[in-house]
Amino acid sequence: MTPILQAPILEAQNITKRFGGFTALDAVDFTIAPGERVGLIGPNGSGKSTFVNCLSGALNPERGTILFEGARINGLPAWQRARRGLVRSFQIPRPFKKLSVVENVQVPLRFALATPPVEGSERRALAILESIGLAAKADRSPRDLSQVELRKLELGRALAASPRLLIADEAMAGLSDSEVDEIVELLERLNHDGIAIILIEHIMRAVMRFSQRIVVLVAGRKIADGDPHEVMRHAEVERAYLGQ
Ligand code: ADP
Ligand code: MG
Repeated sequence: MTPILQAPILEAQNITKRFGGFTALDAVDFTIAPGERVGLIGPNGSGKSTFVNCLSGALNPERGTILFEGARINGLPAWQRARRGLVRSFQIPRPFKKLSVVENVQVPLRFALATPPVEGSERRALAILESIGLAAKADRSPRDLSQVELRKLELGRALAASPRLLIADEAMAGLSDSEVDEIVELLERLNHDGIAIILIEHIMRAVMRFSQRIVVLVAGRKIADGDPHEVMRHAEVERAYLGQ
């Protein structure tokens, strides 16, 4: 059902991350195929953001291997991973407040790409804003944006780096139901254009609608990985959520 027969775009094996004596990730295996949509869920503190930080290069795990498009990327800085197409958005949007909305998208266009567009970065940034429904706000300050518009800008900045794999860490927290739908539709469109997406999210309605496969972390261990409906019937997953 899922396109798992293809070579994975990302394969993480046996990832272990400790903070002092505390094991935040315990031998986690994870793969995602090109163009696949995977939901990553788990109670607060289960290690989801730590895992994203290990994949994206903000943290280095003590153990384990990370392969992106078949090449080992352990130890590479985040910007080099981004240039290869492994891009994450942040749980808390961090736009440059002194730049306009369009300039915020131009920054990664100029600096994150292996071959930055010398000319036309504004045109490309405007096209990205168009695709995420923010073109009308191009010349405004990020301070003027609503919560859902800030989330879209955060995704727009990630898109400017031309990702092949996008990791969206809680891109919907605090949004209304219809705003959640807007972000899901945006992610679906990006996926349709060929981007594999890892969606980290607490809003189960969004996760179930979006994901072809769901992976569950509890206390740093992967306890389930598979078809969304089967995973949600899994006894340990029920316990993890009921116990919260
Ligand atoms: P999640 O994103 O699933 O809510 P996190 O990955 O943020 O969970 O955190 C997993 C665990 O690791 C938590 O117990 C958290 O307190 C701990 N942790 C995360 N980052 C650090 C850090 N830099 N130093 C120490 N402990 C950390
Ligand atoms: Mg988190």
